[in-house]
Amino acid sequence: MNSSKKEVIKFAKMLNDKKLSALRSGNISLRYKNGFLITPSGQKYSSLKEKDIVYINLNGEYDENQKPSSEWRFHQDIYNSKKNAKAIVHSHSTNATALSTHNKKIPSFHYMVALAGGTDIKCAKYATYGTRELSKNILKALTNRSACLIANHGQIAFGRNLADAFELAEEVDNLAKQYIKSLVLGRPKLLSLNQMKKVLSKSKTYKRD
Ligand code: 13P
Ligand code: ZN
Repeated sequence: MNSSKKEVIKFAKMLNDKKLSALRSGNISLRYKNGFLITPSGQKYSSLKEKDIVYINLNGEYDENQKPSSEWRFHQDIYNSKKNAKAIVHSHSTNATALSTHNKKIPSFHYMVALAGGTDIKCAKYATYGTRELSKNILKALTNRSACLIANHGQIAFGRNLADAFELAEEVDNLAKQYIKSLVLGRPKLLSLNQMKKVLSKSKTYKRD
């Protein structure tokens, strides 16, 4: 358990260090045994200790003396509905958040959009943070995808491990930045379904680690 908690803390601190999510915003979790380990609510990442990381089982039960992230419900729902989700990174990264305030998805303006598993990266409908309603909206936007934007809020990415999920979150923010820039020049030319299908079949073998 301790080495897994250390891993959660390492990547939570990276949210600040890599400027993916400022101060206390965002949260990180790692699948562990019959549940997951998650960052606490409202605590600055720089002060995180192993005792602050909360274990929640897949039924949503945890030690009531602890205070898990207010978003533990969507972490629970993602682990319960997606077997390949082993780690989740939720951030308020600047570019993804800016785009999310327009409730816009990222379309096939660049082939790297395929990294999230499909021809676009959807934007989940707005709901109050920490609610089951928000979780439902997020699961819908994550259908056949491993990342999505969250309207007027930020983004989520999941992966095979924390490094994988974190890298995808960085890619999503980068794509959001490029898309916003391309919109400045007007409407970008989008890749066709056929062009994206070719990328999607190639990208299955793109990553080496
Ligand atoms: P927590 O500190 O409760 O994880 O909240 C941060 C956040 O990003 C809520 O959406
Ligand atoms: Zn958030």
